Amino acid sequence: MSTHTVQYGSIKIEFELIRKEVKYINLRVNKHGKVVVSAAKNVPLAIIKEFVETKSDWIITHLAEIEKLRQSIPPIGFYEGKTLYYLGKAYSLELSEGPAKIELQGETLSMTSQHITENALWEEYLHWLKEQGKIKFEEIMSGIYPLVEPYGISRPVIQIRNMKTLWGSCTTTGKTIRLNLQLMKAPEECIEQVILHELIHFRYRNHGNDFYALLNDLMPDWRDRKMALESKYKDYV
Ligand SMILES: [Zn+2]
Repeated sequence: MSTHTVQYGSIKIEFELIRKEVKYINLRVNKHGKVVVSAAKNVPLAIIKEFVETKSDWIITHLAEIEKLRQSIPPIGFYEGKTLYYLGKAYSLELSEGPAKIELQGETLSMTSQHITENALWEEYLHWLKEQGKIKFEEIMSGIYPLVEPYGISRPVIQIRNMKTLWGSCTTTGKTIRLNLQLMKAPEECIEQVILHELIHFRYRNHGNDFYALLNDLMPDWRDRKMALESKYKDYV
């Protein structure tokens, strides 16, 4: 067994290499957050590193999730003083009874609801994120779309959903991208990264070399943006 690293944006990914009789290369993240790679004896280290690099996206997502589980997870739910993120800024939650309304004032997210119950508050909050997203996502699309327009990609329609595992996805017809309303918790540069990623899929459907070449070209710091998104803004609300 030996330890090696590959570079992922500003982050070093460390992995343990085990040589054994596997078909080619296997990679997994164990429950302690260690990346373990098994490879056949005749596979050169350079090839193994390249393989790990192509899996970086997946590894980072999993490491971030394991890290989240390891930290004591704050109680899920809405309570006075809870920290909620909006476009990357932290707000402290303030609750009161009355006609449904959410307002941002200074560092406070003030939420008024007819019923101060977990479900009512949750629905109101997600509905609000979605409404804000309708405006914000189009605005960000307008900023990012000109980057891909020269590649013959047409501007898609945006659908907004609450999704558990994906930040974004796109339809193969090339007319629609679906964005997670949870993205509204993250800074604009993180949202830009997700939108650009989906737009490039209209030209390259898979995550092949061409896909990443164009992404690197148009947004050289996309990995840092993705890392920020994965590690900070999944609050499971
Ligand atoms: Zn993709």
